[in-house]
Amino acid sequence: MSGYPQMIREKVSGIYIHVPFCTAKCPYCNFYSVPAEESLMDAYTRQLCRALEQAAARWPSRADSLYFGGGTPILLGARRIDKILETARRHFGLTAAEITLEANPAATLEETLRELYAAGVTRLSFGMQSADEGELRLLGRRHTAAEAALAVSHAQKAGFTNLSLDLMLGIPQQTAQSVEKSVAFCAETGVSHISAYLLKVEAGTPFDRDGVAARCLDPDGQADLYLRAVEVLARHGFLQYEISNFAKPGFHSRHNCKYWLGAAYLGLGPAAHSLMAGRRLFFPRDLGGFLAAEDPLSLLQDDGPGGGPAEFALLGLRLCQGIDRAEAASRYPDYDWDGLWQKSRPMLAAGYMRLENNRLAFTPAGFLLSNSILARIL
Ligand code: SF4
Repeated sequence: MSGYPQMIREKVSGIYIHVPFCTAKCPYCNFYSVPAEESLMDAYTRQLCRALEQAAARWPSRADSLYFGGGTPILLGARRIDKILETARRHFGLTAAEITLEANPAATLEETLRELYAAGVTRLSFGMQSADEGELRLLGRRHTAAEAALAVSHAQKAGFTNLSLDLMLGIPQQTAQSVEKSVAFCAETGVSHISAYLLKVEAGTPFDRDGVAARCLDPDGQADLYLRAVEVLARHGFLQYEISNFAKPGFHSRHNCKYWLGAAYLGLGPAAHSLMAGRRLFFPRDLGGFLAAEDPLSLLQDDGPGGGPAEFALLGLRLCQGIDRAEAASRYPDYDWDGLWQKSRPMLAAGYMRLENNRLAFTPAGFLLSNSILARIL
């Protein structure tokens, strides 16, 4: 299982960098992060640049997207982000690339946002979650809706036109009216992209220990909120392109689409995942180990095969455009695509899927049942 698979040779098309630092832990979150300390963030930046250099030597490529996820990447500050980007550009080109950085909204980011824009970040994704102050408190968020709007305004003044906000659906006591209000609030800020995720109570989190799942809406209630969100987002011009993602025309996330289209991507940093040459790889959730490694890439763990036909269908069907019969057959000629199309017929009749120009796709109602439908048809 462990050890770096030496035989892998593939072009990297996108780079994901996991930044494992947060100021405090949100009670619902299961992403890997540790408290942010200046010396740790300096050491992490150095080691990440080293990992980028080593990765470039093993997979010489040109990438056209880079995504700083976390954790809270903006805590690294513009100076460290600039250094990482400079190293990534030197080794992977990144010409006309989409460079995304996740941030938590705050009123104090004005100067940092200007510096990040100057460093070459092209897209920001703010974790807003809700415009309702009660919902924000329940989620343990440390910002208000007004601070989120101010952060967006500062980003726009800095020059950013590609901005995204995250919303959370299914928060205890959330109503259709509050979802509508949050969507309208986001739209009013002038952002070009919104992600809307259903709250999932992850094992081992404070929400799990406090029994928050019992206070959440039942699946029917969650489904109603989700479908209402899809409808209201469309009314504001945000068209759904993936189960949880909505964008104004031309503003879909280039990097995230690579995950759903099965493109090769390289993930660096503790807890980061990669898909390279048909294998899924990941780094352990261990910042200390990552910093101490002589050869950071030697920490990569092999998580088995990836990118096969079932995965192509599973991930491709997360996109509203679905999967194309001819493309599926040309990529995986030995797979029983006729069988899959046959098994989808009852889902088409029930309105959970649609078939247009030989593209099979879920409807919004089908997205809600996609896990069980996929288990039946794949
Ligand atoms: S939700 Fe974001 S800010 Fe909160 S703990 Fe998780 S990664 Fe950190």
